[in-house]
Amino acid sequence: YFVSFEGIDGSGKSTQARLLADHLRAMGRDVVLTREPGGSPGAEDIRKLVLEGDTDRWSPETELLLFTAARRDHLERTVNPALAAGQVVICDRFADSTRLYQGLARADLRGLVDQLHDLVIGQDPDLTVLIDMDPKIGLSRALARGDGEDRFESFGGDMQRRLRQGFLELAREFSERFVTIDGNRPVEDVFADMRDVVGARLP
Ligand code: C5P
Repeated sequence: YFVSFEGIDGSGKSTQARLLADHLRAMGRDVVLTREPGGSPGAEDIRKLVLEGDTDRWSPETELLLFTAARRDHLERTVNPALAAGQVVICDRFADSTRLYQGLARADLRGLVDQLHDLVIGQDPDLTVLIDMDPKIGLSRALARGDGEDRFESFGGDMQRRLRQGFLELAREFSERFVTIDGNRPVEDVFADMRDVVGARLP
């Protein structure tokens, strides 16, 4: 079973992914916790190439190709072997982040994103948990923890609002696998909701 977490920077998705992994392990499940961009040695190298360089080192198209290559490697090396072994895979971001960040935020490339996804990825999670968050709170959280990686914060509040709306639109587009959880609450309240939702769906 394949679960992804999505949300804007500072939404708490990484914390919730980790809490879910701990919870399921405590229940005796065999869990692989992974992340994107990255999640395999090759994909982590690509992550560095894209996220640690100059923002405009790669064109939006090239960035999309690099992240797609990273996802393909992550699937081959980490996700699919784990799924084949019957493990629960919990992934902090997956293809929905590409639909949003490469497909909408950096440039208008959603058509190319979808073509590449069909061509070389061809799979999506069984369940995607969107941690919905007021962008003002998310951004201040991300900045407070010294998160220097958010490549979109320099665009200011308007971009953050667009990203939030973009995730909510993806949740509507893929409503059969998305659940949206209100992240504007204490971590343990968000976790309690999320655990119930995931628990109801996990086979
Ligand atoms: O989720 P995480 O904090 O690891 O993401 C690191 C950065 O990469 C974030 O600023 C996010 O906006 C960006 N990102 C991206 N395209 C993706 C996934 C993440 O630009 N497909």
